[in-house]
Amino acid sequence: MSTVSLHPAIDGGMAKAAPGFAGGTLRCRCASDAVEVKVAAQVAFNHACGCTKCWKPAGALFSVVGVVPRDKLSVSAHGEKLKVVDEKAPIQRHACTACGTHLFGRIENKDHPFYGLDFIHTELSKDAGWEGPGFAAFVSSIIESGTPPSKMADVRTTLRAKGLEPYDCLSPPLMDLLATHAAKAKGTYRDA
Ligand SMILES: [Zn+2]
Ligand SMILES: [Zn+2]
Repeated sequence: MSTVSLHPAIDGGMAKAAPGFAGGTLRCRCASDAVEVKVAAQVAFNHACGCTKCWKPAGALFSVVGVVPRDKLSVSAHGEKLKVVDEKAPIQRHACTACGTHLFGRIENKDHPFYGLDFIHTELSKDAGWEGPGFAAFVSSIIESGTPPSKMADVRTTLRAKGLEPYDCLSPPLMDLLATHAAKAKGTYRDA
């Protein structure tokens, strides 16, 4: 098997959460007047994502993305440079208009299962202690951004070798959350 380069925060070994870590500051990649976002929480459900919407560094096959409660996230500098990439997308990704980096993704639809959570990329923070990615989602979607289908076996083998179970949707706990939300909406939800 050949090893595939997935993402800088995965290839060299992944970060582990520091006990008691309570967040940090995300910065865009502008050399001056960088947009800053303060996050007062550890990231949850951090994962590698193969979808075509998440921001990723040049050359990476996957993004690394996780969530924090939206009330724990605030823009602390140069918010005037932020613009929503696609107003119609369920997750509104707030990107720096100068460097293109996505600072956070926010859901404004209160009926969305993930309403109340903001999506962030912890690699934009220099603070050490963020939990690293724990699984890989939407793996097959990297074909849509140009990965040859013939490389997918190597990609999945490399992900597993890193301890990132590959899924072609979200992970089972997140798929269960989505289905629970749907069941509650339909009135078919049963507890225990
Ligand atoms: Zn920027
Ligand atoms: Zn994604």
